Amino acid sequence: MVVGFEDVFAAAERLEGVAHRTPVLRSRLIDEQLGIEVVFKAENFQRMGAFKFRGAFNAVSKLSEEQRRAGVVTYSSGNHAQAISLAAQLLGVPATIVMPHDAPASKVSATSGYGGKIVRYDRYSEDREEIGHALAREEGLTLIPPYDHPDVIAGQGTAAKELFEDVGELDALFVPLGGGGLLSGTAVATRASSPGCLLNGVEPEAGDDGLRSLRCGEIVHIDTPRTIADGAQTQHLGTHTFEIIRRDVDDIRTASDAQLVEAMRLFATYLKIVVEPTGCLGFAAARAAAPDFQGKRIGVIISGGNVDLERYASLLGS
Ligand SMILES: *Cc1c(COP(=O)(O)O)cnc(C)c1O
Repeated sequence: MVVGFEDVFAAAERLEGVAHRTPVLRSRLIDEQLGIEVVFKAENFQRMGAFKFRGAFNAVSKLSEEQRRAGVVTYSSGNHAQAISLAAQLLGVPATIVMPHDAPASKVSATSGYGGKIVRYDRYSEDREEIGHALAREEGLTLIPPYDHPDVIAGQGTAAKELFEDVGELDALFVPLGGGGLLSGTAVATRASSPGCLLNGVEPEAGDDGLRSLRCGEIVHIDTPRTIADGAQTQHLGTHTFEIIRRDVDDIRTASDAQLVEAMRLFATYLKIVVEPTGCLGFAAARAAAPDFQGKRIGVIISGGNVDLERYASLLGS
């Protein structure tokens, strides 16, 4: 097996005192409205604003001295870029980030703010993985991809490990899904900590490749989906993430952009928190599924909170 609970455990030790142990939030009004008891793991409060710091720091800290000196490279639509930049800066490692031209301004400036060197590309016509591999080859950098890497997966699994430590076992858990790093890491933690928990990945309705992959038993590739959930605009699951997801995840659900906006509004109203559209996937699906889970204890991972304020205001105003 590529990633076991011992890897998540080791990642948690590396992250101790470096990553935040994010809070678990509750809202009595949300519980009453939905007829379920919901616990929210608030990774919007993680360093750099999303869970991705966990996987990035775990992966960069496992590099050899020689690899650290040469530096790392990655491709990302945003949060992984910031995460690698920050992790590399903390560990004194140079970082190069391949980012799309249309990445949100807040993500671009945060990434360069952490010291990462940015190389731009067009997400609708160029292949970011090819660009990343070429830079790794030509400049001797170590490529740390955003999700399909055992150390990244193990790091992402530490959020759910903390959640189960804090709240005990759950009846179901809803987790945002892009390339599957968060979901597969969560799956490893869930099977060890709350084996009976019904584990659901949630992806944007416009990009349901994960659901289709699970149904047909092989990785389905799609065009870049057009959705407000920019952190989940992935075209396919990874080899490692798919292997874990097909074994340990019970179901994959989808959420529409309208459902994401509604979840964003509820987060602002009841929890008083800013959550980016992708971070709303889990709650959007949990709300839709609530009639099937009456009286049950449900976990939701809020994966991140990085959204330009103008964009946030215009999404909520529409
Ligand atoms: C990256 C990201 C996701 C998706 O994570 P994967 O590991 O690619 O599945 C979800 N939410 C946010 C906020 C992200 O940054």
